[in-house]
Amino acid sequence: MSRAGERLFHPLWVSGKRYYDLKSYFSNRFRDRVYKISVDAGFTCPNRDGSRGIGGCSYCDPRGSALRAAGPLPSVGRQIAAGRALYAHLRNARRFMVYFQSGTNTYAPLPLLERRFAAALAEPDVVGLAVGTRPDAVTPAVIDLLAGYAESREVWLEYGLQSVHDRTLQRINRGHDFAAFQNAVELTVGRGIRICAHLMFGLPGESDGMMLETVERVSRLPIDGVKFHSLLLLRGTSLHAAYRRHPFPLLSCSRYVDLVGRSLTLLPPEVVVQRLTAEGYRDIFVGPPWVQNKLAVLNRLHALLERRGLVQGAAARVPVPAAEPTGSGRPGAVPGRGNR
Ligand code: SF4
Repeated sequence: MSRAGERLFHPLWVSGKRYYDLKSYFSNRFRDRVYKISVDAGFTCPNRDGSRGIGGCSYCDPRGSALRAAGPLPSVGRQIAAGRALYAHLRNARRFMVYFQSGTNTYAPLPLLERRFAAALAEPDVVGLAVGTRPDAVTPAVIDLLAGYAESREVWLEYGLQSVHDRTLQRINRGHDFAAFQNAVELTVGRGIRICAHLMFGLPGESDGMMLETVERVSRLPIDGVKFHSLLLLRGTSLHAAYRRHPFPLLSCSRYVDLVGRSLTLLPPEVVVQRLTAEGYRDIFVGPPWVQNKLAVLNRLHALLERRGLVQGAAARVPVPAAEPTGSGRPGAVPGRGNR
């Protein structure tokens, strides 16, 4: 509570953070911890195979995933088994979401998508799917397929967007514009599927104002979650080649943390913040160096939120419906924006 007795934290934020984190969401939804297992189902991308573009997004790891680069891909079931074993050992985990992460996971013939998704959902401890894709790679048939699963399971569709600025999207060779994202949201909304937007800070040519405008405009759409991360410069990408020819400034940690802190205030309080910073790609990582210390970035962000008294939604322009008090209702009765 604030000094005036006004509620500072939203009732949904049960983990006590100044924002709606994924742990709180899963706790509200399943009354339990849920862990995400990332899998590579071997799908390609229309921005690589020539149907939308070639070369891929300028920052994207051209290998697809480290697993794919290491040799023949294990089946989805075997990847889940490996993830389960790891989490069970480290965290005593019992419930999982399977995250189809690598490539464009709605870009394949429908029967193949169905086989891959069904393989994940057949595992008894898997509560649902998160499917990473591009906004121009969903069709009504794919949405119907996912909506069918969403009748009984948790389903998130994660759309890569990165920026609302078409000039930037062109510059990073995304191969789609902001209107494609708006259309994809329109196609998805109201079908029981939760929508997550991936946003990136530090793209070349973007000012702080442009990045915050991205968050503000996306938060006005009926999305249910966001993932933030900074630009990671990776060896083997066209962005790295461009950087070597004409170096451009990479975000500092303090600027990134400041941007994320201000962004959180723009998001309605029931939008789930699924990621605040990204790490990894250690074998091909170039910079900025602070990115690889995720814990330090999160600590700095939490300190900044505390110091400035920032909370998610403080500056949101979207009217917010009253939330259910924590602990009430059946599991699954969590307010969603995209499914109202
Ligand atoms: S859409 Fe995704 S998978 Fe395809 S090139 Fe861009 S970042 Fe890579």
